Amino acid sequence: MTYYGLFALQHRGQESAGIVTANGSGSSFKRHVSMGLVSQAFKDVDFDKIAGTRAIGHVRYSTTGSSVITNAQPLMVDCVRGQIAIGHNGNLVNAAHLRRELEQRGSIFQTTVDSEIILHLLAQPSEGSNVLSALRRIHGAFSLVMMTENEIIGVRDPHGFRPLSLGRLDNGGYVLTSETCALDLVDAKFVRDIEPGEVVIINDEGIRSEFPFNDSREAFCVFEYVYFARPDSIVNGVNVAKVRTEMGRQLALETRVEADIVVPVPDSGIYAALGFAEELGIRYEQAFVRNHYIGRTFLQPSQLIRDFNVRVKLNLIRELIEGKRVVVVDDSIVRGTTALARVKHLRDAGAKEVHVRVSCPPHKHACHYGIDFPDPKKLIANQYTNAQIAGYLGADSVGYLSIDGMVKATGRALNKFCLACFNKDYPVEIPDGAGKEVMSGSRHSLIPDPDPQAELFGKLK
Ligand code: AMP
Repeated sequence: MTYYGLFALQHRGQESAGIVTANGSGSSFKRHVSMGLVSQAFKDVDFDKIAGTRAIGHVRYSTTGSSVITNAQPLMVDCVRGQIAIGHNGNLVNAAHLRRELEQRGSIFQTTVDSEIILHLLAQPSEGSNVLSALRRIHGAFSLVMMTENEIIGVRDPHGFRPLSLGRLDNGGYVLTSETCALDLVDAKFVRDIEPGEVVIINDEGIRSEFPFNDSREAFCVFEYVYFARPDSIVNGVNVAKVRTEMGRQLALETRVEADIVVPVPDSGIYAALGFAEELGIRYEQAFVRNHYIGRTFLQPSQLIRDFNVRVKLNLIRELIEGKRVVVVDDSIVRGTTALARVKHLRDAGAKEVHVRVSCPPHKHACHYGIDFPDPKKLIANQYTNAQIAGYLGADSVGYLSIDGMVKATGRALNKFCLACFNKDYPVEIPDGAGKEVMSGSRHSLIPDPDPQAELFGKLK
């Protein structure tokens, strides 16, 4: 069941996949992790051999630590508290500091991921008498699933950066998941979201909650709605596809344009493009045809491969484009690579005008809480104005959704979101030197990034 659940969460990480199981209290944990997609990672596994009554699973998308098998999760240790396994979604901001401190006290780290720090804190009796006191030492973004010898524990950091939901199976079992689409797949009923700052402990006696953290302002990552979550998931009680469609409507109202057709960049721009087209009464055409057998481009570690993927991923139906005034809608522009390729494609196919519309505000700042945005210098909106970006992309115009418009589409209050990548308002302070580059073995330091865009950006200046 955990394996199936991971299939539903595949979009959240494609670098490695893993499961740890336990067959009844006190039994030895069994762990299987491997690089690649869930289907590849488990292709040779005999499920009877790792079957159990409890399990946690993880799919990885690296924001700290390189994309190697030693960093694959769930991580597992055998320590004074017994066996513990952990799966982490998010990014700790005090990781470098804690790791240094733990190493000075003799901890030997096996991986370069920040998540391992949590295990070391749990393993040190001096960290306090229980899991809750160890959890109070970590800062930043963390939605966790943990397994001990007789419990499954779910944790959401006090700001609730990343999602975590609870479901129930017909047989009475509980399911914790980053997204509700996994509940649908395993036939579990959605019960509720785990609250920011909540720790749920599930054992043979049932389920109970603790709230060990100080009160903090909720800061849910708005980018989950914009791009990251699957459209069929319910996040904070709202369906993601509906929010994206509404973002498209808001975008249309804010960046109105006369055009013949609205074309989404699939799949990320589909719902926003639908909303945009509906709002302005312009025909929606799915003119880009996607090759479904290629992973998300940004998960590829090197810029060279990323550019290749941009080209190989989509083809265009020329007949729908020729001589038309086209609005092309995507959810976000990060480096500008995708938008540049799409505009060129549309021009080559004979579009008369190309207007780029983006269903979130300009990305200007780094994310320290679990989304892999590059160095701000490579964020095109950090460096250039809309007019310059339009020039760079070869578009007739570029329009972004406003922060207010984006938040309005979610139906929630602005102060419940983390908007740091747009407005630099970081809900958790980023200690000096704490960032993804600090951890040894970060892929950002290991793999040279030739960045052909640097040259193009250079021309713009
Ligand atoms: P880029 O080509 O670098 O401008 O990336 C923008 C495209 O990648 C859009 O189509 C987005 O849907 C997608 N994307 C979303 N999140 C990220 C991310 N964290 N890093 C890179 N690309 C992303």
